[in-house]
Amino acid sequence: MKNKLQTGYFGEFGGAYVSEELKRELDRVYEEYLRLKKDKDFRAELAVLRHTYQGRPTPLYYCRKLSEQTGGADIYLKREDLNHTGAHKINHCIGEVLLAKHLGKKTVIGETGAGQHGLALATACALLGLNCRIFMGETDVKKQAINVRKMQLLGAEVVCVSSGGKTLKDAVDAAFEEYSRTYEESLYCIGSVVGPHPYPVIVRDFQSVVGREARAQFKRLKGGLPDAVVACVGGGSNAAGIFSAFLSDKSVKLYGAEPLGRGTGIGDNAASVAFGTPAVLHGFRSLVLQDKDGEPAEAYSVASGLDYPSVGPEHAYLHAIGRAEYVGVTDEEALSAFRTLSLSEGIIPALESAHAVAYALKLAKELGRGKSIVVNLSGRGDKDVEFVLNEYFRE
Ligand SMILES: *Cc1c(COP(=O)(O)O)cnc(C)c1O
Repeated sequence: MKNKLQTGYFGEFGGAYVSEELKRELDRVYEEYLRLKKDKDFRAELAVLRHTYQGRPTPLYYCRKLSEQTGGADIYLKREDLNHTGAHKINHCIGEVLLAKHLGKKTVIGETGAGQHGLALATACALLGLNCRIFMGETDVKKQAINVRKMQLLGAEVVCVSSGGKTLKDAVDAAFEEYSRTYEESLYCIGSVVGPHPYPVIVRDFQSVVGREARAQFKRLKGGLPDAVVACVGGGSNAAGIFSAFLSDKSVKLYGAEPLGRGTGIGDNAASVAFGTPAVLHGFRSLVLQDKDGEPAEAYSVASGLDYPSVGPEHAYLHAIGRAEYVGVTDEEALSAFRTLSLSEGIIPALESAHAVAYALKLAKELGRGKSIVVNLSGRGDKDVEFVLNEYFRE
């Protein structure tokens, strides 16, 4: 972008706030990653797995009925829900585990909240034959029993974390601790474009396939570029992936849909760009939701994949320079979009992705006919159906 950035920083955001020892290891990982990124064999291996195992390229789908009903811009979906395992996370998990394998590591360490990242990572480890240790807060282990069983079925070991609040934040701390002790044989594979450098760069690069495909597919279909791209933002990996291909297309507006949950109070949402202030959490500097005492706040969203109290440093930067706009979507709006998309197109979206769909519906009316919007449909909603029907649409 316009100013030359210090390695590992996006403006004032990013960096690696870890011990000197771990920093040296992460620098080694990055150096090797940069080499492999250009290596023909590594690229070919990744391309074959994406094609034959994951099901890439995923389609770009024009929502005819939804667009007509909404009465505005044309809405297109980048169908990341059609990936093996049902979401975009497998894009960076296969990349990270392949990297671990090429680095000669035997074990992959990961954290998980609701279980989506843990499942995708366990899948990639089963595929590539590495040991997998997933750290998960005790509260989440109890809530997500079926995901724990699935990870175990895939050969992963699920480590129950009973320190602190016993949720995602504590699982990340425990995973880092284990990585600091065992890095000679292991690689920590983080679940989004967060964490110390080089994770935000590596995860974004592995997700950038989404943007490259979507841009080329749209050009082929329509002969130009869309007017807007919309993606939901938790840590920000699916958004960073689709945004990456459009960053230099000045005419394309980029929107990140943040979870506004049940309101604007601290503890009621997970909209870190809107309500966060600069601070260091989990080894990187970004916008962090904080309570009155300056401690990371409990983040909340009806979509558990979005409730992280910070956001990837690149998003904090894109917000600061005004290249992307971050907008709030409430639980209620997301739930309504969940139903709308199911009814109008026969596609049940993940509650996370429903945040992006909800904003796209608003934007479509604002932009009006003749314009087009590409939405990153980050995942499928099978995991959410029971919860949504029990809690919200009982009739
Ligand atoms: C985990 C998850 C997200 C949120 O992660 P990002 O890093 O913000 O993309 C979004 N959608 C789905 C389906 C997820 O599983």
